[in-house]
Amino acid sequence: MALSLARRGIAATVIEKRTGFGELGAGLQISPNSGRVLDALDLALPLKRVAVSSHGLRIRRWRDGRELLEMPTHAERLPTPFRMLKRNDLHTVLLDAARAMPNIRLMVGRAVQGVAQDEEGVSVRLEGQNGGGESIRALGLIGADGLWSRVRELTGDTSPPVFTGYEAWRALAPGARTDKPRVGLHLGSGRHAVHYPVAGGRESNLVVIRQTGEAREGWSHDGDPQVLTEHVANGSQALRELVDSARGWQVWSLFDRKPAAMAKGRIALLGDAAHPVLPFLAQGASLAIEDAAVLARLLAEHLEADGEQAVPAAMAAYASARSARVARVQEASRGNGRTYHLGWPLSMGRDFALRRLGPNGLQRRYDWLYDWHDG
Ligand SMILES: Cc1cc2nc3c(=O)[nH]c(=O)nc-3n(C[C@H](O)[C@H](O)[C@H](O)COP(=O)(O)OP(=O)(O)OC[C@H]3O[C@@H](n4cnc5c(N)ncnc54)[C@H](O)[C@@H]3O)c2cc1C
Repeated sequence: MALSLARRGIAATVIEKRTGFGELGAGLQISPNSGRVLDALDLALPLKRVAVSSHGLRIRRWRDGRELLEMPTHAERLPTPFRMLKRNDLHTVLLDAARAMPNIRLMVGRAVQGVAQDEEGVSVRLEGQNGGGESIRALGLIGADGLWSRVRELTGDTSPPVFTGYEAWRALAPGARTDKPRVGLHLGSGRHAVHYPVAGGRESNLVVIRQTGEAREGWSHDGDPQVLTEHVANGSQALRELVDSARGWQVWSLFDRKPAAMAKGRIALLGDAAHPVLPFLAQGASLAIEDAAVLARLLAEHLEADGEQAVPAAMAAYASARSARVARVQEASRGNGRTYHLGWPLSMGRDFALRRLGPNGLQRRYDWLYDWHDG
């Protein structure tokens, strides 16, 4: 967000409650819809150094590994690659670019606690890790503070995230060299697994979804590999071997939440704070990047036309520009979760439908998602 603003000449202060911007070693798929935004921020070159371009999505059955379908990635007809990379590599690229911008200020170890709006701007109350407080003034506040967003709460939305009954296990495995790197998806009853190369192909990011009785609080937790070995015991040999070779399992409980009103006066919400997306379409981070591009453009246009008093109008225009798309992506992700996890005999119908649809049919189904352009 800060980069999108700064490139349009709007100064930004980033407030991060953790003491550093480092991230856990898990991976991310960044599809062309948001990759295009990153390219426009001149990040294509640094991203090329750390990301692997996907050639497609290969879908298999969990139990025997039988291939159901391979969907070519839109890379063949789109100039923006479908990227697969480590989260901390993306963070590093963004952070380096932000540090190079004189109109971005980074404040770490401070959490947003409160906000008051008036005619001219907002006063944001921050709390340091040692408990000390301070206040900063700005034209507006953009809450990009994730699923458990404090800023969303401050807009009066106290509807809690709802536990889905699923948890995601993520780890890194040694990479397998291949000419055509792609995303692998294994569909099983009440479970699925996704894997793809990261770090120039030297490693594979592996995510396994399983049902569980209760939610774990917080961002992520260490996972016992034995639990996962048992979970994939009925899977194909290739899947079992992949899981056995993975190290450093981290577990995320998966929550869902209704989309928020994305703007209130001079406050806007973006990313998971506004509309958390279940990871069954790999779109949460992409939507946050899209949000940032749209909000920065609208702020720049309104500020230029009507000055600082136009911030609430820009925020409102952003909310109406984004609401239909984010709701559609949220719903499409939930839908994928339902079809991915179908049990026998419904799974037979799904597999038959997938094969009938064929690679191009499936690809066309996602045109609305990956062909997105701002403006
Ligand atoms: C298993 C799994 C796989 C996924 N795979 C993909 C994928 O392949 N592609 C994809 O696009 N998405 C994926 N996602 C979704 C993606 O991880 C999230 O949608 C994305 O991280 C949301 O970004 P965000 O910036 O909105 O929130 P977050 O990443 O949660 O960041 C919020 C930040 O705000 C900080 N913060 C919180 N409260 C405060 C406060 N009060 N004051 C200051 N700072 C605060 C936090 O410390 C954090 O740094 C996946 C998610 C999961 C669980």
